[in-house]
Amino acid sequence: MTIESHKETLGFQTEVNQLLKLMINSLYSNKEIFLRELISNASDACDKLRFEALSDDALYEGDSDFRIRVDFDKEKRTITITDNGIGMTREEVMDHIGTIAKSGTKQFMSALTGDQAKDSQLIGQFGVGFYSSFIVADKVTLTTRKAGLGHEHGARWESEAEGTYSLETVEKTSRGTEIVLHLKEGEDELLDGYQLRSIITRYSDHINLPIEMKSTEEGKEDEYEAVNRASALWVRPKQEITEEDYNEFYKHVAHDFEDPLTYIHNRVEGTQSYTSLLYIPKRAPFDLYERERSHGIKLYVKRVFIMDDADQLMPTYLRFVRGVIDSDDLPLNISREILQKNQQIDKLRSASVSRILGKLEKMAKNEQETYAEFWKTFGKVMKEGIVEDTANRERIAKLLRFSSTHNDNDAEDVSLDAYIERMKEGQKDIYYITAESYAAAIGSPHLEVFRKKGIEVLLMHERVDDWMISYLSEYEGKSLKSIAKGALDLGDLEDKEEKEAQKEAEEALKPLVERMQKAIGDQVKEVRVSHRLTDSPSCLVVEEHDMGASLQKLMKEAGHNMPKVTPIMEINPDHALVEFIKAENDEERFKEWSLLLFDQALLTEGGQLNDPVAFVRRMNGLLLDDKKVA
Ligand code: ADP
Repeated sequence: MTIESHKETLGFQTEVNQLLKLMINSLYSNKEIFLRELISNASDACDKLRFEALSDDALYEGDSDFRIRVDFDKEKRTITITDNGIGMTREEVMDHIGTIAKSGTKQFMSALTGDQAKDSQLIGQFGVGFYSSFIVADKVTLTTRKAGLGHEHGARWESEAEGTYSLETVEKTSRGTEIVLHLKEGEDELLDGYQLRSIITRYSDHINLPIEMKSTEEGKEDEYEAVNRASALWVRPKQEITEEDYNEFYKHVAHDFEDPLTYIHNRVEGTQSYTSLLYIPKRAPFDLYERERSHGIKLYVKRVFIMDDADQLMPTYLRFVRGVIDSDDLPLNISREILQKNQQIDKLRSASVSRILGKLEKMAKNEQETYAEFWKTFGKVMKEGIVEDTANRERIAKLLRFSSTHNDNDAEDVSLDAYIERMKEGQKDIYYITAESYAAAIGSPHLEVFRKKGIEVLLMHERVDDWMISYLSEYEGKSLKSIAKGALDLGDLEDKEEKEAQKEAEEALKPLVERMQKAIGDQVKEVRVSHRLTDSPSCLVVEEHDMGASLQKLMKEAGHNMPKVTPIMEINPDHALVEFIKAENDEERFKEWSLLLFDQALLTEGGQLNDPVAFVRRMNGLLLDDKKVA
């Protein structure tokens, strides 16, 4: 049958053009990875077909032996990679091969610096897959036919990477995909059987289907033979798997270019038998903070690929974990719907979570530098676990790291245990402050009395902190207390004299406090004498059960209608400005001074003034008035 080919020429997305250029330059020193990427795609395509054929074996069209073939032609100067996987329709080719569907592409592009060394690291992290063909080829022809007798025609995609590609409908009898790389000038060393074999064994030995090449034996030149081991890596005995094997397999499952930070490989026999091979990456993917993004666990049943992104297998806060779980007991026809309420899956998940936490605990103890690297990359996400995973809250809490007044920089490396160990005699609670930035936290007036007494305070300055900490009220029998909430009670950390001095100050300033409260009006719930300030004239606190300022802001941004929290203003009885205001007899000016104290307190905690113009006018007015007086 002849067909009309509908040949059309299309332009790449702008991103693809940029990406191609960058990739060709930055990955050239690692050029042989193109083969790994294409074999990885071919293997995924076979996995997908094997899974779909579970419910419709007509898709096999009588051929259920999967294989990937690599051929080369010295004359034509081509390398060809062929698979008999699921293939693509013309539409699918258009969707997958001229565009980058990856979420985060935009952010990725804007993260590029123009500095080649830095950008090539980034590109590795982003993953380039099919496009890596253009590192060694100046023309690529992809011909593919979707599996199943309903798809009689194939599609051909061809590009010289010059901004456009062509797409046409073609005859193709065999299902699957064939990719022909027309090598660039100077890449002839790749047209060599030994060279190609060694690349395949180096990068793709773990692929669990045969990767075949023509035999090198005399007289058998037309026969194909497998050049890899073609057995699932995760079922091999651990002692037979090298570090490189683990790393290469990671790159395949995670579509990453870098080695992982660590892995956990386990075989479990019992009421439920399964193997899991889980990886913690070194770097965060670009879309790490989109909580809805796909998860990275592939589910297999008895070596048969079932699905990608099995989000039931990993809680959201561990969405950066990659790897495979291969169950011996689940039914092969398990669907996403069934996964959601399957008890076996729940058990698999909690066992996997436990293993990952266990690995991190060990790392935190024995390899502190690696753990610090991990925490820097994934700490923010781990904090979500405090909210999400009630069953493991204690364990996750142990893994948390914070900035602290104990450090002289913003490094997050103080654990709750380390804090407890350093607690002052008589100290019962763990003190913390939340703020919008490290600078706001470390500069907060609330810290003053703690600094004076040498009591450590944890500085929480990330957006998730306020939310997270509202779920962590206790650790190892100690309460976590915000130093910006409620009345400050330092308990035994204050001596009798201090307490008496405070009482006296409160008595003495009662009239001032009342006057000020009236002057400021309903912007404050109360004005009171502070015990926490040594240097600043005023600060704001909220009631114990009220939401902290940054959480309020976060909730509002997320579109929640938040009831207004009215703060309490505390004034420093020993501050010169407070003394000065106390002596002010003009009620109008007294009011202006009081409002100024309030606005200052609001500003120091990173809050926003209701009326910045009024603030400036008021301040200038007071400054000039003073001059006149003087
Ligand atoms: P990635 O593999 O990271 O998704 P690629 O650019 O390598 O990115 O591939 C894009 C998509 O094209 C794949 O997700 C897949 O849907 C499709 N694809 C690539 N190679 C093949 C193949 N050999 N057979 C079938 N589909 C393929």
